Amino acid sequence: MKIYLALISAAALALTACSQEASQPEPTAPAAEASAPAASEVAETTAASETAPAASETAATESADVPAELNCEAVIESDDAMKYNTSEITVNKACKEFKLTLKHVGKMPKTAMGHNIVITDSSNVDGVVSDGAAAGVDANYVKAGDERVIAHTKLIGGGEEDAIIIDTSKFAAGNQYEFFCSFPGHIGLMRGQIKLVD
Ligand code: ZN
Repeated sequence: MKIYLALISAAALALTACSQEASQPEPTAPAAEASAPAASEVAETTAASETAPAASETAATESADVPAELNCEAVIESDDAMKYNTSEITVNKACKEFKLTLKHVGKMPKTAMGHNIVITDSSNVDGVVSDGAAAGVDANYVKAGDERVIAHTKLIGGGEEDAIIIDTSKFAAGNQYEFFCSFPGHIGLMRGQIKLVD
């Protein structure tokens, strides 16, 4: 048994030695070149500059991969028929910020057929809508400083659009979130789910 273990650890050591030999020359050579022009500074910086190039290479690879897969924005259309063109917004949890654009593709003015997008926890929808109605059109039908509101666009009329940036850290795991239009009477038709996905 001891011999067997000894063999395994010897093999492991050999593997480690091999991989160290193989990997060492690569980072050292470029690091030395990279630090050479800046070498006018201090000898101490050599240690830092050896790790620095490797770190920035990794970061570059990651940032090149992530944005390609990660979609952190959505465009929603609304119209004179009191409707959004979707009932669901999907937000990837990896997005730190999410850009949401509301377009009004109708022709009616905002006083008659205005739309906005308000986002709240599902349990706060009714309260935010009634307080918003009381706040009036000049307040975009959203009560000023309403802490139940995660984010909201302004109220827009036909041909207009408004974009907002949502801080996704305001979405708590396990909660249900909804988006809706707080123009009085619109919530019946203009309401949807925010889906947080991995
Ligand atoms: Zn509306």
